[in-house]
Formats: sequence, structure tokens, C-alpha cells
Amino acid sequence: ADEHVDGLLVLFVSPIMIDAQAVAEAIRDHAPKDKPVLACLMGRQKGREAIAVLEDAGIPVFRYPEDAARIMRLLVRRRALLDSEPGPVPRFKVQRARAAALLEAAPAGWLTGSAAEAVLGAYGIPFPRGRLVRAPKDAVEAAHEIGFPVVIKAEAPGLLHKSEHRAVATRLQNGDEVFAAARDLVTRLARRMPGMMLHVQEMAGGHREVLLGMTRDPRYGPLFVAGIGGTHVEVLRDVAVRIAPLDAAAPFEMFASLKGSVLLGEFRGDPPADVAAAADALLRLQQLVADFPRIAEVEVNPFILDAPGGRSLAVDARLRLEGEP
Ligand code: ADP
Ligand code: MG
Repeated sequence: ADEHVDGLLVLFVSPIMIDAQAVAEAIRDHAPKDKPVLACLMGRQKGREAIAVLEDAGIPVFRYPEDAARIMRLLVRRRALLDSEPGPVPRFKVQRARAAALLEAAPAGWLTGSAAEAVLGAYGIPFPRGRLVRAPKDAVEAAHEIGFPVVIKAEAPGLLHKSEHRAVATRLQNGDEVFAAARDLVTRLARRMPGMMLHVQEMAGGHREVLLGMTRDPRYGPLFVAGIGGTHVEVLRDVAVRIAPLDAAAPFEMFASLKGSVLLGEFRGDPPADVAAAADALLRLQQLVADFPRIAEVEVNPFILDAPGGRSLAVDARLRLEGEP
């Protein structure tokens, strides 16, 4: 086949008179072996036999040209990804021994929020000032130490979606508000959640919420995720996924590829969000999961972005371990 042709998309609308099977056989016999060939067969006459001929030859058959074109586009993207030479993988100075000590004794399953935070913190992912207390009056004291405004969250084993249980109270401005919110959490939730603690946290000042994550694919290894974050992620599903290794540019490309990437730029008078802070955190996450293969899944949501030079913070993280300590 012509060297200027990288792939073929054969569209075939079968008029009544033509033998679709013969056409299919012709496509099969002339298809180049080293380039992708996709076929699209519209019309019914002898459709089944024709499809069987092509599929037996390993040529995917589509009913609609839109689908065939979409797959061709994905093939082009895949090739470009496979051909692109990633730059060097950034390495950071981290507290590896500290993370190892935290993970050493931990059983398989989800770490508690503060344990996940400590592990990610050891790798330099920034978290707000925070304290874990049990009683509402201790929450007030913690809030004074941290500085107002603060956030209080319930933390308990297995509590993964705190907002759904109304277990997050934000924008608490003074001791009275902290006490009331803490007491409300305790009265509503403590009985149902044995071992529940109150996590008093500095309130992040930024306005834009992104998410960072990692899951492991049995074939491709670590998959990194970057997206628009917050409590509506499941609805928005605006995420970019990349396989390792991520070079220094990769996280920026991921954020730029989001549908909602404009939300991260200058927006309604707000300065641009510090995407570099999120990029840095994602690359640190890459180093963490490379160092500790037991880490099966991580989600930081949200990472709240301030303006560049400001205080961008991961305010919620979960981390799942697999296997034996
Ligand atoms: P969950 O995801 O388990 O429901 P989060 O800890 O993510 O709970 O809190 C829910 C939302 O509350 C976040 O998406 C964010 O908008 C807000 N929030 C939580 N912690 C803080 C914080 N420290 N500063 C500012 N906003 C916060
Ligand atoms: Mg969250």
C-alpha cells in the first residue's frame, strides 16, 4: 500500500444489486497487513455473510461510519502516544522511610483519612494544618490553634463519602460555630460509626477543586488520573487518564485536555489556578506508587487550587493497600 496512507476506512453502502460478500472478499484480499483497516457496511443484503468474511479476517466491521471514524481517531492517538518519547521522570526528595514506616504494619484495605494523608504528606503533597480529636470541646481548642476559619469532618474506618453523611462542616468562623458543628456530628454519627474522630482542618483558601488519582491496571501498570474535582465528580466525569511514566509535561497536558480546563484559567475575575501545584503533586504521587507496589489505589479529591504562589492544598485523600504488609 501507498506509503502516504497510514490506514484504511472502507465505507460500503450495499445497493440491492451488488453482492456484498464479493465486496467483503475483495476488501479482505487487498487489505494491507501492516496497517489498520476498518470496514463499515451499511445496508442489509447478504450483510451477515459479508460481515463474517471480514471479521474472520480480523477486520473490524461497523454499522455506522461515525463509530468507525471514532475508532480510527483513537488508533491515531494511541500510535502518537506509543511513538512519543517521554522526557525524564521527575524525582523528588521525599521522606521514603517515613512512608515505609506508616505502611509497614497496615493491613490490606482503605487507610483512614489521616493515615492516607500522612503517607502522601511524606512525599511532599501539601495538606492543611489539622488535628484529630474526639470531643467537641477539644475541637474548639484545636480550631484556635489552627486559626479560623476551619473545617470539621468526621473520620471513621470505612467512612469514604463524608458529604453523603453530612459529615463535613466548612467555613466555621469561631469557637461557638466549631462547638455546635462538632456536637452535631457526634450526636448524629458517633453511635453508627464506632471509633469516630473529629478532624479539624484549616480551611483552604483556593476556589478551584481538582482531583488527582491512581489505579493499577493489570496490563498497563499505574494509571494516573487528573480531573475537575469536588463533590460532583461522578456526575461530571471530566478526567484525563495516562499510563506511567509521566514526564514533567504530562500533568499539564492532562489538565489542558479537560473539558473544564477553562475553569482553571483566569475566570470571572479570578486569577488562574496554580495548575503547577497539582502537577507537582501528581508527579510526587507517581514516585510514591512506584516505591510502594502495595498501594493499589489513591484518590485526592479535592486538591484545592489557589492562585500561583498561594496555598494550594489536598484536603481529602484516600488510599487503598493490597496484599500482606
Ligand atoms: P468527601 O469527599 O468525603 O465528601 P471532603 O473532605 O472532600 O469529603 O469534603 C467535601 C467538600 O468540602 C470538598 O469537595 C470541599 O469543597 C470542601 N472542603 C473539605 N475540606 C475543606 C478544606 N479544608 N478547605 C476548604 N474546603 C474544604
Ligand atoms: Mg472528597
